Amino acid sequence: MRWWFFGNLGSCFWAGVILGVSGACIIAATSTVFGQESPAPKKIYIVTDLEGASGVYLFAQTRESGPLNEKAKEFLMGDLAAVVRGLRDGGADEVWVFDGHGSGAFVPELMVSGAVYIAGRGKPLLYGLDDSFVGLVQLGAHAMNGTPDGVLAHTQSSFHENRYWYHGVESGELAQVAAYAGYFGVPTIMVTGDEATCREAKQFLGDSLVTVAVKKGINMEAAVLYPFEETRRALYEGARKAMAVIPLCKPYQIPVPIQARKEWVEVGPDLKPVLRVKEGVIDDVRKIFEF
Ligand SMILES: [Zn+2]
Repeated sequence: MRWWFFGNLGSCFWAGVILGVSGACIIAATSTVFGQESPAPKKIYIVTDLEGASGVYLFAQTRESGPLNEKAKEFLMGDLAAVVRGLRDGGADEVWVFDGHGSGAFVPELMVSGAVYIAGRGKPLLYGLDDSFVGLVQLGAHAMNGTPDGVLAHTQSSFHENRYWYHGVESGELAQVAAYAGYFGVPTIMVTGDEATCREAKQFLGDSLVTVAVKKGINMEAAVLYPFEETRRALYEGARKAMAVIPLCKPYQIPVPIQARKEWVEVGPDLKPVLRVKEGVIDDVRKIFEF
């Protein structure tokens, strides 16, 4: 059961969103089993990306198929295993994991038990995410296009310099995914990636969620890395803690209709880059990835 509460959204509604003024209130649903009330299962949805995994700092690791990419996928699976275990030990009853990296980043034989894994090409984005989930984790995320210290920073396309604004606020993939989940009243409870990603998460989603930085960006393709033993320990502990902060985290909601703007760069016939701009209205947050 869910109650929506939209506060007095003045001109500064964005600050309201960040501070949770327009947050939705989720009351845990109950179900009846053999005549007795039992609490609804705590379901967590994890969205993975590859750029923000431990040990990943080159586009060659994320874009091109080959040994570098195969290794990077193994790095992600190690991070994922730590987070699945942490969530389950923290009280999650059910965990779904969605492979959010364009070319795919799962290594099936490295899946740990305690979760189901959604992989493959052409699958609906964030398949199965609905209001039965109590929290969303963004694992291996990256900062938005143009973030100077964001390792492999981009928004949707790293080839075309895509940039997106909603109600005038430039937003990256992190906010897009959080807004999609927010439509269903699901708060983002944990974000992992580099330091810049964690900073962006707090900026958009507030201070209550758990962030775990597995590296510190120097520039687009250089980072201070931390040993995997340490990052995985931090990811496990962070995931356990994330289960405890669920009641404090508010769903991230962008009021509709959304005034949207997109910019990207195309190479013109004379091989010179041309800036393209699209402006319009998104009337349903679930269509945010289609704009
Ligand atoms: Zn991405």
